[in-house]
Amino acid sequence: MTTFLDASHVVVGAGATGLAFTDALVDHSDARVVLVDRRSGPGGHWREAYPFVRLHQSSAFYGVPSTLLGGGRLQDSGPERGLQERASQPEIIAYYERALARLEATGRVRFLPGSEYVDGEVVSLATGERQRVPAGTRVVDAHYLAPTIPAEVPPPFAVDGARVVPVNDLARLEDSPSRYVVVGSGKTATDAIVWLLQREVDPGAIRWVRPREPWMFNRAVVQPDPAVFLGMGADVWEAAARASSLDDMFLRMEDAGVMLRIDRSLTPTMARCPTIGTWEVDLLRTVEDVVRMGHVRAAERGRLVMDGGTATIADDALVVHCAASGLQIPPLVPVWRPDVITLQPVRAGFPCFGAALIGYVEATRDDDTEKNRLCPPSHYGDTLAQWVEMNLLGGRATAAFTSEPDVKAWAESVALYPGRVPPGHPPSPALDAARERLATWVGPGMERAAALVAAARP
Ligand SMILES: Cc1cc2nc3c(=O)[nH]c(=O)nc-3n(C[C@H](O)[C@H](O)[C@H](O)COP(=O)(O)OP(=O)(O)OC[C@H]3O[C@@H](n4cnc5c(N)ncnc54)[C@H](O)[C@@H]3O)c2cc1C
Repeated sequence: MTTFLDASHVVVGAGATGLAFTDALVDHSDARVVLVDRRSGPGGHWREAYPFVRLHQSSAFYGVPSTLLGGGRLQDSGPERGLQERASQPEIIAYYERALARLEATGRVRFLPGSEYVDGEVVSLATGERQRVPAGTRVVDAHYLAPTIPAEVPPPFAVDGARVVPVNDLARLEDSPSRYVVVGSGKTATDAIVWLLQREVDPGAIRWVRPREPWMFNRAVVQPDPAVFLGMGADVWEAAARASSLDDMFLRMEDAGVMLRIDRSLTPTMARCPTIGTWEVDLLRTVEDVVRMGHVRAAERGRLVMDGGTATIADDALVVHCAASGLQIPPLVPVWRPDVITLQPVRAGFPCFGAALIGYVEATRDDDTEKNRLCPPSHYGDTLAQWVEMNLLGGRATAAFTSEPDVKAWAESVALYPGRVPPGHPPSPALDAARERLATWVGPGMERAAALVAAARP
């Protein structure tokens, strides 16, 4: 016998985006949601993350719109004293458990863990029981941009005799290798190296295989303080307006304190732009044994075979796999299509805000064409051109959704919206100056950025 799910929406994925969407939808409509996930609980990829991971950005920018993660606390000690707190993995999971409990307590959200959505059916992975999603129920894809992580994907190179572990295993070593070989250019690799150095591993015992040089965002300017955040936006658009090339734009952002690179003698080609602290960059610079021979093809006993040659490694070296592709960049699709709502960032980056905004618009509008007008999606960045284009798309999207007074008021009321000036926020000369500079540079900056991106197209 076929059974049918009873819901207005079936949300596939109980990670950051699925929960942010559901939270906004349920709080602003009478929607009834079935939330489905293959995993055993809410929180998505965080459930399998390496144990020493923290949010890369402020807790306030992450989570669900109804409930501030981290209470807006500032760090009161350590190298980030004065910056907003960043939740650890256990804190993120506990927060999502509470967020889900609040939603379930409304009586309008049912969570089906250990269940997979396949071709219009929700299948229990434990029993095989199938429930059909009836016609007319809106299906929400809350995993379109789900990141791949080292714990869940094998290394993208052959392993033949070398000792290779995913980054998660660093925290549970039973012996100490003479050398660590960290493979990856992204934030996971930087986290692994910082963690090793904080455990007093000699920087000389670390070899870093860095296929590409990355640009990274200075955490000090990605803060939920409107004068700081809007000032950073002004710096980005001023850099664009004055830039003679994409490289020049990034160098100008570096001069303004917005972008950081590890090796100032090299021009980065990678712009995923994770957020990082200057203290972390200082630590990373102490690792001088950097291998730049492209991607690793094989890890063999005593050597790594790479695109551009071979590098020797100690026989007992521990090769740390930090080379999952992480953030995904699939083609942009309209958020609302007849068969599916596909969650994507709207304002550049900040996936939780994008998903929550889509949830609010879904709750408060009937016409899909109008909803798509208010929430044009943006992608993540990888190359410099993609990162700049992401910001252009995000800038245009911000103009679209803030054109509607209720959407603007809602956005300004939630901490997830990084560009907000919260209601009742005290005026200050610094805020006035940031706003004025942003108003001056956003127009010419976007115009020049569009030209730089167009020139970079093949
Ligand atoms: C280490 C790390 C740190 C990060 N730090 C930050 C940060 O500080 N700030 C920030 O804004 N972003 C950060 N990000 C990025 C951000 O967390 C993610 O891009 C995004 O928010 C993840 O949410 P998601 O819902 O898209 O994906 P996920 O968390 O992966 O959730 C998707 C869920 O969908 C489920 N699923 C998929 N297909 C099905 C199916 N067919 N049936 C049932 N279930 C299914 C999966 O099991 C999964 O649980 C970080 C990413 C990583 C990897």
